[in-house]
Amino acid sequence: MIYRIPRAARELSQLELDFSGSGTRFLLYPQPPILPGFEEPETVWVSTPPREIQPGPEDARMYVADAVAKTPYEFPDMPPYRGAMNAPATPGADGHFDHLRPGTHQFEAAHMFGTVHWVMDIWEAYFGAPIEWHFSEDLPRMELVPWLDWDNAHSGYGFIEAGYRLDDSGRKFPMNLNFDVLAHEFGHSMLYAKIGLPPPGKATTSFFAFHESASDLVGIIALLHFDSIVDLLLERTSGDLYPRNVLNRVGEVSPTKQIRMASNDLTMSDVADLSTPPDQLSHRERHDVSLPLTGAVFDLLVEIFQQNLVDRRLIDPALDDMSRRGVKDAAQLEAVDRRFDAAFARAPVGFKHALVDARDTLGLYLADVWSRLTWDVHFGDILGLLLEADRARTGGWYRVEIENVFARHGIYLDMN
Ligand SMILES: [Zn+2]
Repeated sequence: MIYRIPRAARELSQLELDFSGSGTRFLLYPQPPILPGFEEPETVWVSTPPREIQPGPEDARMYVADAVAKTPYEFPDMPPYRGAMNAPATPGADGHFDHLRPGTHQFEAAHMFGTVHWVMDIWEAYFGAPIEWHFSEDLPRMELVPWLDWDNAHSGYGFIEAGYRLDDSGRKFPMNLNFDVLAHEFGHSMLYAKIGLPPPGKATTSFFAFHESASDLVGIIALLHFDSIVDLLLERTSGDLYPRNVLNRVGEVSPTKQIRMASNDLTMSDVADLSTPPDQLSHRERHDVSLPLTGAVFDLLVEIFQQNLVDRRLIDPALDDMSRRGVKDAAQLEAVDRRFDAAFARAPVGFKHALVDARDTLGLYLADVWSRLTWDVHFGDILGLLLEADRARTGGWYRVEIENVFARHGIYLDMN
């Protein structure tokens, strides 16, 4: 049986992220609405007040250029787009954008703007400062192109633009409605701003792998700001988030792909060596090199969450010890499941707060780490800086967890 979290238990974040009343309303799909269970969009408040968002939408940070029949930007092309456009999305009489109907250009334009802006709001809260675009010397604002007849999406110098992905029946499903994809592309833009760009010809495999991993993490942390996603994750797993459950239970009800990919058993010895020059790796291999790092950070989320549960007496330390990644013994897995079911049923709201707090702890730590990295990134430095962030913020409360999850995925302090 699945225990339901009372709907009244809204998330309680310690961060300045509640713009209800002051910001502007948008309707966002946490996952593509072609997936069962995600047919209805949710209301999200973006930080900019209604009077400061113009039709488009556009504000001081970004604007939609809803181009008709545009081809993807290719160097040296760059914004602003000056060709034909669809009619802009206009706000309702109250200044909000949640009146638009799905299935229209205007809804999709607002969905892309709302998603990218909200993910930016979330990460600016973690950084405690506005993100200064890496292209700000040339372009004051980011351009968002919601639709290209192209089976891809990308971010580049001054823009994010989105095409389509084919759904199961071969139809083109627009990526402007895919939260994970848009958040990931925003992640790349944010990281260019934070760690800079390598000089021509200097980019390393570690740089590319870090970028892919961190962009996925930008998306996962942002995704966990949807109440419905936190509830779904907990209700399907009873808070036992290690892979058997995340893969089987979340995966079967909703392809929350980001989470399934992040929850992995890979170590650095399963993927290409970081010293391999990037031009000798296929696109696929470059992405796969990022997975052990993503896996380590995802495991850290789980470990911080479980430590919060122990600290708040919502599970006992013995259960925390029993539920480890890589446990194969069927009887032990079964026992862990049963005990998590019982513990979650006793305190579903406490579990939710423990997960939301773990999310924010990790978001703050990652912001600390990414603020100090340069483009010449080494995996060992990421571990070292995480330990420093933990020391600075909590006196090292999660040190053992950080060391364990990185060792589990084959990442050590002296690593390239
Ligand atoms: Zn990417």
